[in-house]
Amino acid sequence: MTEHAVVIAGGGPTGLMLAGELALAGVDVVIVERRASQDLDGSRAGGLHARTIEVLDQRGIAERFVSAGQEHPNLGYSLILLDITDFPTRHNYVLALWQSHFERILADWVGELGVPILRGCEVVGFAQDDTGVDVELSDGRSLRALHLVGCDGGRSVVRKAAGIDFVGWDPTTSWLIAEVEMDEEPEVGMRREGGGIGPVNREEGGGPYRVVLKERLVDHPSEPTLQDLREALTVAYGTDYGVHSPTWISRFTDMTRQAASYREGRVLLAGDAAHVHPPQGGQGLNTGVQDAVNLGWKLAQVVEGTSPESLLDTYHAERHPVGARVLHNTMAQVALSIPDDRHQALRDTMTELLSMDEPRRRIAAMLSGLDIHYDLGEGHPLLGRRMPDLDLHTADGPMRVFTLLHDARPVLLNLGEPGGFDISPWANRVRLVDAKHDGVWELPVLGEIAAPPAVVIRPDGHVAWAGDLTDTELPQALATWFGAANPAH
Ligand SMILES: Cc1cc2nc3c(=O)[nH]c(=O)nc-3n(C[C@H](O)[C@H](O)[C@H](O)COP(=O)(O)OP(=O)(O)OC[C@H]3O[C@@H](n4cnc5c(N)ncnc54)[C@H](O)[C@@H]3O)c2cc1C
Repeated sequence: MTEHAVVIAGGGPTGLMLAGELALAGVDVVIVERRASQDLDGSRAGGLHARTIEVLDQRGIAERFVSAGQEHPNLGYSLILLDITDFPTRHNYVLALWQSHFERILADWVGELGVPILRGCEVVGFAQDDTGVDVELSDGRSLRALHLVGCDGGRSVVRKAAGIDFVGWDPTTSWLIAEVEMDEEPEVGMRREGGGIGPVNREEGGGPYRVVLKERLVDHPSEPTLQDLREALTVAYGTDYGVHSPTWISRFTDMTRQAASYREGRVLLAGDAAHVHPPQGGQGLNTGVQDAVNLGWKLAQVVEGTSPESLLDTYHAERHPVGARVLHNTMAQVALSIPDDRHQALRDTMTELLSMDEPRRRIAAMLSGLDIHYDLGEGHPLLGRRMPDLDLHTADGPMRVFTLLHDARPVLLNLGEPGGFDISPWANRVRLVDAKHDGVWELPVLGEIAAPPAVVIRPDGHVAWAGDLTDTELPQALATWFGAANPAH
């Protein structure tokens, strides 16, 4: 039986990101992926939000994605456009980039980090005991690991085998989604009830087209066909535009569910395996990638033995509320897009509200993931929030905060006088950086905040402590997040 520290079921966006995070931390990880190649049978998710691009920037790979996509100033809340160009981030835009391209670029990075991917193979079950997990594969092999992470999508085998409830709401609507050629030029644009027709090649325009159309029925006994699409087009537009040559046809619904627990012993869930919701606001892929970045360094520390297993409980504690909020806001967006006059009145009211600065900032910061605030207790406003990417002056010259996070290791950033704290008990784990920053500190929604003299930045870019180096809570914070002080010191 082959042994690894971590087995990841599923090499979609979440599994790939998690694998990269673990590999950066030196963990022996393998991905088991059902698909024979990284190719997707459709373009799926359409873009990256600001916090996801920041997270990629923290690893030094954002430019690979940014250069392959198109920047847009607005994000859409139930198709109500919200400008985010005034947000205090280097990535104050939505990046239009199809999931198929996103996965290809991310998989290249994971390949550079040397992560093996067992392709064309499924996880079909597992058994966990006190010391590890036996992971059963569809080809009859099994793998032994310290931990198994289910990144295997909404129908997650891992979640089901772990007996974790998937709590939430049944679908109320079903949508056809397809990429097709059309003999006639279709009416391009969004429809009032959502969906519509648009070019797959967004820059060039023209065919092939991506079509998203609401269906009359919610439940369907079989997979969708070209005939189903013809009929739906005719209902919506009075013509099927001579639709032909589909590269793929699929369905999605507004089913909204979340795993009751993101962890069952040595087994964890991330991404769509942990939460599914309608695509309004384009948050699914983004939330999964950010789950992975929250989990990766914690799992690495537990595997390495520097932190107790209880650190993994903070993964559920921090990410479950984030997922619940995404479910909540997508349900609101679905309600706002119901095409009747009363919902239109509600939508008009929301549109008016969202034209005001404060509501726009709040909702846009939520959708973009920039307002995520893990509850780490009372304290400085930065505590639990993302560290802004400040321009620093260091002994090595000018540097951005995110550059300090490229190797996914924690940083104690001292902006006061050098000296004053002995980092040696954590020297092999936490990097102490003395730096200066001249400008103001500004957070999304909160605005300007008082600059702290020092901050502890976790590998995921969230602030674990902020204060003065003489603060007696600093050693405790370092021990809580990065393991006990080394007794040799
Ligand atoms: C129409 C549509 C539009 C969307 N638009 C957006 C958007 O604009 N923005 C956004 O953020 N999100 C969007 N999403 C959601 C997004 O596609 C998903 O949230 C995202 O793909 C989740 O990534 P994941 O890696 O968690 O799961 P998945 O992408 O589902 O990946 C799971 C992987 O696991 C593999 N797998 C499954 N079972 C097994 C098994 N037993 N063993 C091994 N491998 C297995 C699968 O082959 C797959 O590669 C959209 C979704 C749809 C359908």
